[in-house]
Amino acid sequence: MDYAHFLARRIDGKVQKLAVDAGLTCPNRDGTLGWGGCTYCDNCAFSPSYCHRSQSVTQQLEAGKRFFAGKYPDMRYLAYFQAYTATHAAFERQRQLYDEALAVDGVVGLVIATRPDCVGDDLLAYLQEVDRTRLVIVELGAETMHDRTLRLVNRCHNWATSQACIERVAQMGLTVGAHLILGLPGESDDDMVATVDAVSQLPVSLVKFHQLQVLRGTTLARQVERGEVEVRDWTAEQYAELCVRLAAHLRSDIVVERWVAQAPPHMVITPQWGFKPAEFQRLLSSLATK
Ligand code: SF4
Repeated sequence: MDYAHFLARRIDGKVQKLAVDAGLTCPNRDGTLGWGGCTYCDNCAFSPSYCHRSQSVTQQLEAGKRFFAGKYPDMRYLAYFQAYTATHAAFERQRQLYDEALAVDGVVGLVIATRPDCVGDDLLAYLQEVDRTRLVIVELGAETMHDRTLRLVNRCHNWATSQACIERVAQMGLTVGAHLILGLPGESDDDMVATVDAVSQLPVSLVKFHQLQVLRGTTLARQVERGEVEVRDWTAEQYAELCVRLAAHLRSDIVVERWVAQAPPHMVITPQWGFKPAEFQRLLSSLATK
């Protein structure tokens, strides 16, 4: 099943995710857990042009709706709290933000992206209530099952924390998405297969993969330049071959929302594959049917 069909099981008609920047930061940047953030992180890489943290949640969603206007009639929307750590605030503040999003005309659910160590019980109880009438997806940045890698990229959480959080969110009856990065420093293909095998043991409904991108100005870029860290020098075809191998290991009911991400080209040092996601999907399909 693909992501569109997955959503269609809960929502009639076409659905578009609209990114929202709630103006929060991240516990791995503000000293709560760590400083400087994950070595590869630059949130500008995935913030769409209509998304401005200086604007209210409503203003951003209305701008997003205008951005996608005319794509389909009767479009419905999921408010995607994506930037930084979308749950890094007191629960009352979080509830205010999510309630505001749900009050916007056409918004039929929430997608909340966060770290596995940043999900409180009060939030889960609230989301469980919302999920009775709307769709809620909790997208957890697990990235890899290998603690040595998590330490190397300064994630400031370990795999056990990801496992425990996935279990807790799923026990509340909520849809869990796992975010995983392929090609993290020091990881072999077998390491990534092990991560997919481990995720397949957990109550995860969705997985979102992307290739590690070395972005200008990040700690990772400096580490690579100084020769302190090595990253994969791979072609899109080699990456696609790995994706085919991983797909064979993924539990069959888990839906892959995405295999690749594409930061704005001027931000990317490597890999510079220069394809559109649809082109990559075609490449993947052609390899999968060989
Ligand atoms: S990737 Fe996420 S957890 Fe890591 S520094 Fe960036 S916002 Fe924080």
